[in-house]
Amino acid sequence: MAHRVTLIPGDGIGPELAEATRRVMDASGIEFEWEVVEAGEACIAQYGTPLPEYVLESIRRNGIAIKGPITTPVGGGFRSVNVSLRQALGLYANLRPARSMKGLDTRYQDVDLVIVRENTEDLYAGIEHMVGKDAAESIKIITRYASERIARFAFEYAVANGRHKVTAVHKANIMKLSDGLFLESCRTVAADYAGRIEFEDRIVDNMCMQLVQKPELYDVMVLPNLYGDIVSDLCAGLVGGLGVAPGANIGEHGAVFEAVHGSAPKYAGLNRANPTALILSGVLMLRHLGHPEAAARVEAALREVVAEGRATTADMGGPAGTSQFADAIIEKLGSPAAVGTAPAGATA
Ligand code: NAD
Repeated sequence: MAHRVTLIPGDGIGPELAEATRRVMDASGIEFEWEVVEAGEACIAQYGTPLPEYVLESIRRNGIAIKGPITTPVGGGFRSVNVSLRQALGLYANLRPARSMKGLDTRYQDVDLVIVRENTEDLYAGIEHMVGKDAAESIKIITRYASERIARFAFEYAVANGRHKVTAVHKANIMKLSDGLFLESCRTVAADYAGRIEFEDRIVDNMCMQLVQKPELYDVMVLPNLYGDIVSDLCAGLVGGLGVAPGANIGEHGAVFEAVHGSAPKYAGLNRANPTALILSGVLMLRHLGHPEAAARVEAALREVVAEGRATTADMGGPAGTSQFADAIIEKLGSPAAVGTAPAGATA
C-alpha cells in the first residue's frame, strides 16, 4: 500500500528541492501518494497566516510530512512556521545526523555525528516581552518532563542504531537551575542504559571547540533547543555545509522531515541549490516508515553521485543543477523512466 505523505514545497529554493526529493523518493521502489499543501509566504495574502489550519490537518491525517524550508521574517512579522509546526504537532525530537561524504572538500573525512535536539521549549518557546522601552526579556523554559523525554529518545536512538555513546550538552555551570535540570534529567535516563550506552556531558562552549578539533570523539549528542540549533549548523559545516545536512522532527503522533538549512532566497528559481539535505531527510523518512533497504539504496546512490562529482551542484564543486543532480541519483537507482519527469507541485 502506498504511503500517503504531506508534501510542503515551502519558500525560496524549497519548491525545487521538494520536487527533486519527490522524484528520488518515487524512484526508491516504495510507493508514495503525495498530498501537496502550501505553507509560507504564498499563503499570507490569501489566509492571513503562513501556516493555515489545513496544513496541520493534512499532517495530522497522514502522520508524515516532508517540507521545504520556509522563510521567517527577522524581528517583527509572523512567528516561525517551523517552530509553530513543531509545537502544534508535538514534534519534540529533532534528529540531525552529520556524516562525511566522499567527494566533498571538507576538513575532516570521518565525521559521523548525530544531534538530538529538544524541539519544544528552552528560549524557543518564544516567551519574551519588553521591560519598559529599553530592555527585553526572553524566558528560558526547561522542564524535567521534556528533558527526560528527549534524553530517552537519544538513548533509544543509540540502541536502535548501534551507536555507543550519548553526550549531554549544556551550560549548567552558569544556568544552574534550567540547564542543571536538563543535565540532571539526562543523568537519570542514562542510568537506565548503564553498561549498554556510555554517557558523558560537556559544557556547550567547550563542546564547540572539541567538535572542530576532534569530532571523531563524539557520537550521539543530546541538547536543549537553542544549543541544538547552533551546534547542528556547526556539525553541518564539518561535513560539507548546510546543503548536505538532513533533519527530522519526530513526535508521538507524527513526523516532519526537513533539511537543516533555510530558504536561501538568493538562489530561488535558479535550479542551483543543492537538494542533498532534503533527499537525505527523505532517507530518514524511508527509515522511519520501516524501509531500511530502500533508505540504504537511496543514500548509497546519492553518495556515489557525490563521490563521482560529475553531476553535483555548484556548492559541491560540480556543474549540475538541482534537477540534474536528482536525475543522476534516479539513474543510479535503476529507474531511468523517472528521469526528467518533473511536473512542479504535482499530486500523485
Ligand atoms: P539559509 O540556510 O537559507 O542560507 C544560508 C546560506 O547557505 C545561503 O545563502 C546559501 O549560501 C547556503 N545554502 C543553504 N541551503 C543551501 C542549499 N540547499 N544549497 C546550496 N546552498 C545552500 O539561511 P538564512 O539565509 O539564514 O535563512 C533564510 C530564510 O530561511 C530565513 O527566513 C530563515 O528564517 C529561514 N529558515 C528556515 C528554516 C526551515 O524552514 N526549517 C531553517 C533555517 C532558516
